[in-house]
Amino acid sequence: PVNRRKEVQESRLKLPIIGEEQIIMETINENPVVVICGETGSGKTTQVPQFLYEAGYAHGKGIIGVTEPRRVAAISMSKRVAMEMNLSERVVSYQIRYEGNVTDETKIKFMTDGVLLKEIQKDFLLTRYNVIIIDEAHERSMYTDILIGLLSRIVPFRHKRGNPLKLVIMSATLRVEDFTENNRLFRDTPPVLKIDSRQFPVTIHFNRRTPQDSYLHEAYRKICKIHRMLPEGGILVFVTGQQEVHTLCRKLKKTFPINKTESSTQEKRKESRRKLDKNRERAVLPNINLDNYSVAPVDEEADEEALDSDLDLEENEQEEDIDCKDVESSDAGSCTEPLYMLPLYSLLPSHKQARVFEDVPSGYRLCVVSTNVSETSLTIPNIKYVVDTGKVKTKFYDKVTGVSTFKITWISQAAANQRAGRAGRVGPGHCYRLYSSAVFNEFEKFSPAEITRRPVDDLVLQMKDMNIDKVVNFPYPTAPDVEQIEAAERLLVSLGALSAPEKIQRFRDLKKGFVHKITTLGHAMACFPVSPRYAKMLALGQQHDLLPYVVAIVSALSVQEIFVENFKPSSEENEKEEFTKKLEHMKAVKKLWAGTGHSLLLGDLMVLLKTVGACEYEGCTPKFCQKYGVRMKAMKEVRKLRAQLTNAVNSVIPNANICIDPKMKPPTDLQAKLLRQIVLAGLGDHVASRYPDVIPETSDGSEKKMKNAYQCPDLEEPVFIHPTSVLYKEKPHFVVYQNIVETSKLYMKGLVAIEPE
Ligand code: ADP
Ligand code: MG
Repeated sequence: PVNRRKEVQESRLKLPIIGEEQIIMETINENPVVVICGETGSGKTTQVPQFLYEAGYAHGKGIIGVTEPRRVAAISMSKRVAMEMNLSERVVSYQIRYEGNVTDETKIKFMTDGVLLKEIQKDFLLTRYNVIIIDEAHERSMYTDILIGLLSRIVPFRHKRGNPLKLVIMSATLRVEDFTENNRLFRDTPPVLKIDSRQFPVTIHFNRRTPQDSYLHEAYRKICKIHRMLPEGGILVFVTGQQEVHTLCRKLKKTFPINKTESSTQEKRKESRRKLDKNRERAVLPNINLDNYSVAPVDEEADEEALDSDLDLEENEQEEDIDCKDVESSDAGSCTEPLYMLPLYSLLPSHKQARVFEDVPSGYRLCVVSTNVSETSLTIPNIKYVVDTGKVKTKFYDKVTGVSTFKITWISQAAANQRAGRAGRVGPGHCYRLYSSAVFNEFEKFSPAEITRRPVDDLVLQMKDMNIDKVVNFPYPTAPDVEQIEAAERLLVSLGALSAPEKIQRFRDLKKGFVHKITTLGHAMACFPVSPRYAKMLALGQQHDLLPYVVAIVSALSVQEIFVENFKPSSEENEKEEFTKKLEHMKAVKKLWAGTGHSLLLGDLMVLLKTVGACEYEGCTPKFCQKYGVRMKAMKEVRKLRAQLTNAVNSVIPNANICIDPKMKPPTDLQAKLLRQIVLAGLGDHVASRYPDVIPETSDGSEKKMKNAYQCPDLEEPVFIHPTSVLYKEKPHFVVYQNIVETSKLYMKGLVAIEPE
């Protein structure tokens, strides 16, 4: 029996899913696989695990497992459910790659999808679980897709063994045909339960015109208007990245500051609120469309006009430079009511993320500026206005070469509707789309599945490790291209993880491509929770006491954005500024370990190694991180990953016996040279050579300047050393790179210089 507190009971009763408990549980009891669809916020993630728990699905040995594509969600949802059930976090726990609080007592386990995939490798039948809930299946993350494919086979197996496993797939959209209508996946179509959304109507306001580049400015303007003119209610703004979140927060804080000297301003504020209320009465909102929030826009022209003329914000204010003075001198500038600004993005420290769930101080209006983490995985309470830039930053990969680019693109129609839906949780809401309805109609209907957009080498290795040899035949909800799979197999063969193709037995096999089998090295590599290239480095690190160094380097390479400033591809101006800042950090870090003299030998990887070493030596303190421009959250992840990899190495490599030495000495010259060879073994196909400064062009005899350009095997275009690299000035003839990113040019990052022998 669960002993919930009274407030929890009450708030649960308001969730639409509560009324469906009986039907949900009956359907799950009677069917091996069930799909549940319900609007974000309807209570799927927090309530379904509780229903299962109360129905006895965690009695005895077996437990309830819930997968999330995002770490943020795994952590915050486990905490939320523990709180609602009045149970300790030892019972309702989470596990993500780097950390977790799972114990022997754990009954409900939230985890990232990657974590469950690793567990399947060790225990294919998932015997520890009675139920697996695959949450956020609509996001179509690669691991979620693969898990559904695997579970489609595991569930019947478990049934045959008389120890049935239930599978519950949960989605925030109704688009689930890829799972249900795909008879390679489930022979019997699983039942689909639709949770009545009890979603309040949201009125959609399209912009008449779509601003070209200045969507951030447009968002700022819109928020100012909403805050000055419209009745109370939280605002949620969707922008594309961390940098934009901060920029916008800063500007809005300046415009609507929180005044520290409470008492003296209280009168003023009351006065201004009186004025404000009068103003607000004037801004009559358009009729609310009671049928549906998602399709028909309400007379967009009229809306825009109503808001624009009422607010009377100078039309000719400078587009580029948003100066708060401009706004304060404007007509409605008498508004001194502060905005309670909260940023939200996935790299934000967890305790700061949690603030969006806390109460808003009275007298303030909540304004959350978020990346698309709050599109479906987190339901932020009390939002009435959504401002949607229609943009998202997505990582694009060349499916074959792996070159990655961050691009800002339009979202899909489905995503736009999800965003709009965030405004209708507490009452009728409004969504301001900063683009025209014509542009909206051009959006893709749905975002494509992740698996079709990225290299699949890690996935293929993991599948081969599970003895799925014909990766092409796997029951994918959406299959990757054969080209992608072939590129992955080629890489894995070159790393020695797969063996050369077996003799082709039948014509049919020929058509389906070669069958590579996993090698002993491949099995060892699959044990490490890092990309196959880095796994290879770990598997090679046995000689000359190199393992602790390899572990440190691989940990640092596997965690993103170790250094504070992140790269902003959208504006040239900022790019330069970021570069210089980052160079400063590099200099500082270089100085820290100056005199050890190995920089040339290991390039940027030495900087990483030094950073990890110094951070451990001096303690991973805020002071240290600030001084060297190191991101604390990243360093904490590196430390956890280092511990995890150290354990993995000890269990995979006999007699490794390594530990984490907080006073790790810099490597000797010999060690640094050997480390470089190991790095080269993992990144052997990532070698670039410098072009001669001037190359005579053969076709028309003209000369083409290729100053500082490099050539690498898979790419026709020249690549360049990223300015944050310690080898930027050095410009060695040959370099090994970690990855290539495309911004204004193709840039190589994570460089090590090599000399041809
Ligand atoms: P779904 O999974 O269907 O999107 P959830 O189960 O995540 O819905 O959320 C149900 C409700 O619980 C939402 O109204 C949300 O605001 C609330 N909620 C979820 N997490 C928290 C939290 N950490 N603090 C406060 N409220 C929360
Ligand atoms: Mg959810």
